[in-house]
Amino acid sequence: MSTTTPEAPAVQRRKHISVPTPQVPRKRRSPEEIAAATTVEGPKRILLAAPRGYCAGVDRAVVAVEKALERYGPPVYVRKEIVHNRHVVDTLTEKGVIFVEEADEVPEGELLIFSAHGVSPAVKQTAQERGLQTIDATCPLVTKVHREAVRFTTKDDYHILLIGHDGHEEVEGTYGHAPQSTTIVNGPWEVDQIEVPDPDRLIWLSQTTLSVDETMETVQKLRERFPNLQDPPSDDICYATSNRQAAIKKVAPESDLVIVVGSANSSNSVRLKEVAEEYGAKRAERVDFANQVDESWFTEAATIGVTSGASVPEVLVQEVLRLLADYGYGEPEEIVTAEEDIVFSLPKEIRKALQEAGHEDVGRGGRKRQD
Ligand code: SF4
Repeated sequence: MSTTTPEAPAVQRRKHISVPTPQVPRKRRSPEEIAAATTVEGPKRILLAAPRGYCAGVDRAVVAVEKALERYGPPVYVRKEIVHNRHVVDTLTEKGVIFVEEADEVPEGELLIFSAHGVSPAVKQTAQERGLQTIDATCPLVTKVHREAVRFTTKDDYHILLIGHDGHEEVEGTYGHAPQSTTIVNGPWEVDQIEVPDPDRLIWLSQTTLSVDETMETVQKLRERFPNLQDPPSDDICYATSNRQAAIKKVAPESDLVIVVGSANSSNSVRLKEVAEEYGAKRAERVDFANQVDESWFTEAATIGVTSGASVPEVLVQEVLRLLADYGYGEPEEIVTAEEDIVFSLPKEIRKALQEAGHEDVGRGGRKRQD
């Protein structure tokens, strides 16, 4: 990572949004006590990054699970976390979802949903052998990478350099589409060590939720070593990841503290914290819930930036904003760097099931979620 603060993207507009009155009394220090403890003089500001939170792929996957519960009733099995967010997983568990690690843990004949991160063909094969009914909630933007992996290795005879985090479910799924012809590259530090079959038949692909800047650094190093490295037809880092990083790049330079709402296993949430630090935030912290925010972080924080990962419901961000209001921070100023209106159709299996059950509105998963 660079040690200088890179230039942030342009802001399209700023607007003020209202924060609801705090609803849950907290057993914390009073605002007067906080004011006495802080070194901040003058106004205390909140910069709220936009876009933030749910992306179209996460929304589609969560709605698919909810619709499956409605249609078939519990239990519904999901392989791995449907999306990487503690609150979402806990909420669905309460509704009757059983999360499993592998398809062979599911009783024969039951319904299994594949998560938004995608699966390898071997996982689908296991599910088929167990006679499971399946719904594939893989994000269409991950499916696009799977298709590229198959096409470039079978039709075009390339070897893939897959930039991504070894062990992440999405990387496992993509790797599994061409395991004999793929090398995983975790980051620029690995470029010098990798071995390839033919340096003139290489193409790179990537995980969808990486740091845009670090991925470009990896590609640059790969190209220095393999000058004939081919680019994919389009970037694999998805619009949601790019947009959330662009927004926090604008917020971070003005922030004494950036709070990223998102889970520890959420790649794009962890990247947001790193990007905030890289782009000038004096401090950045990631929390799952508002009650994980440590009041000592506020001591020298006149301006706090807030954002959330692509798997985070907005209600969790609102809880953090209420907490900040308790501590004397003013109305959030929203920093908008892009507008998003992408919506994906629900998985075909659930659309068919809903149609058969007489539901009229079965097409889209993308409602604006608050929970
Ligand atoms: S972060 Fe991107 S790739 Fe992942 S589910 Fe969301 S839209 Fe799809």
